[in-house]
Amino acid sequence: TRTPLIAGNWKMNLDHLQAVALVQKLHWTLKDAKHESDTVEVALFPPFTDLRTVQTLIDADKIPFALGGQDLSMHDAGAYTGEISGAFLAKLDCAYVIIGHSERREYHAESDEVVAAKVAAALKHGLRPVICVGETAADLEEFGASAVPVGQLQVALEGVSSDAEIVVAYEPVWAIGSGKAATPEQAQEVCAKLREVVADKLGADAAARTRVLYGGSVKSGNIASFLREPDVDGALVGGASLVADEFAAIIRFQK
Ligand code: 13P
Repeated sequence: TRTPLIAGNWKMNLDHLQAVALVQKLHWTLKDAKHESDTVEVALFPPFTDLRTVQTLIDADKIPFALGGQDLSMHDAGAYTGEISGAFLAKLDCAYVIIGHSERREYHAESDEVVAAKVAAALKHGLRPVICVGETAADLEEFGASAVPVGQLQVALEGVSSDAEIVVAYEPVWAIGSGKAATPEQAQEVCAKLREVVADKLGADAAARTRVLYGGSVKSGNIASFLREPDVDGALVGGASLVADEFAAIIRFQK
């Protein structure tokens, strides 16, 4: 059985002081109630400039949250102004890194091949890639829900070895930040197809252990309905991860 992963992608929100306030509030909210940290894994993805601060806080207060970057360079080091290496993320105790988020694909023209190169870089530095795939509203109309994300994942897993620890996130672009989440049935259908891609590329064992997340307008009010689906193993949460009470309620979901 797969431990559900609740991941908070802060995107370009919260400076390092605001980050302290949010993590502390989240920690205390979860501590007072019963935090089932053994049954749910929580990961935070702050901006790069917050990572050191959040790492220190997690360390000092023994907070059971994993940490990750929102992107990384495909290169290890060198003359790449503005880029961040996977080696740097690993040094800051990052366990994860988001790769191929639709906002990177759209605003930074990241192709499936760039995503694949970044997946390789993440694994090389001991980071678990959270590989994001998803169709736009236009794709949905033209090809249906699964064709584009399936194609994106096939390329992203090119050259990945069968024992690699990866996470897949299905994020329909039309559901991101729109308040219009996919239905649990829609999410299940595509997540099941994505698990088949993992099986094809990395084998049955990898498919059985790999977590496939849903992302796009996840809130405390709909999280349980997604996690009831057999192939949805958690959520990649944007806006709702910036509000301590709301994100805590998502973490404490009851099926
Ligand atoms: P929202 O939860 O704000 O829709 O964002 C989803 C997302 O893009 C997470 O990576």
